[in-house]
Amino acid sequence: MRCSGQRPVEEIPNVSDVVETLARTAGLADIYSKVMDGTRLTFADGLALYESKELMAVGAMANIVRERKNGNDAYFVRNMHLNPTNVCTVDCKFCGFYRPYRQKEQGWTWDLDRCLSEVRKRMDEPLTEVHIVGGHNPDYPYEFYTDLIRGIRELRPEMHVKAFTAAEYDFFAKRFKKPLDQVFRDFIDAGLGSLPGGGAEVLVERVRQEIYRKKIPAERWLDVVRTAHEFGLRSNATMLYGHIETHEERIEHMCRLRALQDETGGFMCFIPLAFHPENTELDHLPGPTGFDDLMTVAVSRLMLDNFDHIKAYWIMITPRIAQTALNMGADCIDGTVVEEKIVHMAGAKTPVGLTMDELLELIREAGREPIQRDSEYNVLQRFDAVA
Ligand code: SF4
Repeated sequence: MRCSGQRPVEEIPNVSDVVETLARTAGLADIYSKVMDGTRLTFADGLALYESKELMAVGAMANIVRERKNGNDAYFVRNMHLNPTNVCTVDCKFCGFYRPYRQKEQGWTWDLDRCLSEVRKRMDEPLTEVHIVGGHNPDYPYEFYTDLIRGIRELRPEMHVKAFTAAEYDFFAKRFKKPLDQVFRDFIDAGLGSLPGGGAEVLVERVRQEIYRKKIPAERWLDVVRTAHEFGLRSNATMLYGHIETHEERIEHMCRLRALQDETGGFMCFIPLAFHPENTELDHLPGPTGFDDLMTVAVSRLMLDNFDHIKAYWIMITPRIAQTALNMGADCIDGTVVEEKIVHMAGAKTPVGLTMDELLELIREAGREPIQRDSEYNVLQRFDAVA
């Protein structure tokens, strides 16, 4: 028996019909056909997605790809962040975290003991990963970095060390006059597990010249990551969006990452990073909207066909937007994170960490099945979709 007003099952359109209608109405029928066929989208397609401003259609298509790749799974990791220093010589205009080297007393430069004490503080928490990034601070000796990785691994051998961006590896090679290969060999020997995805910003020279002129050029970032992948290190890739970059430049960035992934297969996850203007030299800019956050997750899911995972980084886009993104292309929401500093120093209003229960609830309420993962997306524990 059915309630009055309820449609018979045979009259309810299936999901792909609904998405096709949405896409057709949005003028995106050709792209829908490609998505259904698994045909790679072109630069022009990526641009058309952004320019359409049809979030429901783009998000629904991204959800098809997301479910094709990851089913109903939504990943998280139990991790902590460690930022040994915020003193930096690179002076990126978008950065609210750093203090210039000439004012280094206003920042922090933790020694090895201080860094390791951060890990010791969390010894009774079941964390599986430490994520380490920091400023380009010339006051550290080379051994600081390898001792830090080694020290963490000695304290917690089970903990995966995901450390330093491609921009930092380039800094280490130049600062200590060592070939990049040697740096990776030494760091792997110390216990390095993988690389986070930062430092890429937008892989376009115009943007670099405008707001992070002293940071490594796109080609060098790609070279450093290529080298890391050749050493068997896997990494993520990010894109800082919502400042001065155009839609074309975002798509160019994604196409460059996609090309490198074709070559190495070393990327695990793409993470769109929302720009936060407060406390930066670009504080006159508004920063991205929630609409843009979701659109960027969805477009990246559709463009990056050779990336297994897309992350909605709740720290930057808020837990609520990240939760919504789980149905618009994202399959990962990062992790519990302990004491995030970088985004919060740029004015983020999100919490500095979420408890496990909060994360589970956030995922379940989105209708997804929570999966605790390790740093390389191996499943550690599956949780029921319903508590
Ligand atoms: S983004 Fe990184 S490299 Fe740029 S100023 Fe901030 S800490 Fe330094």
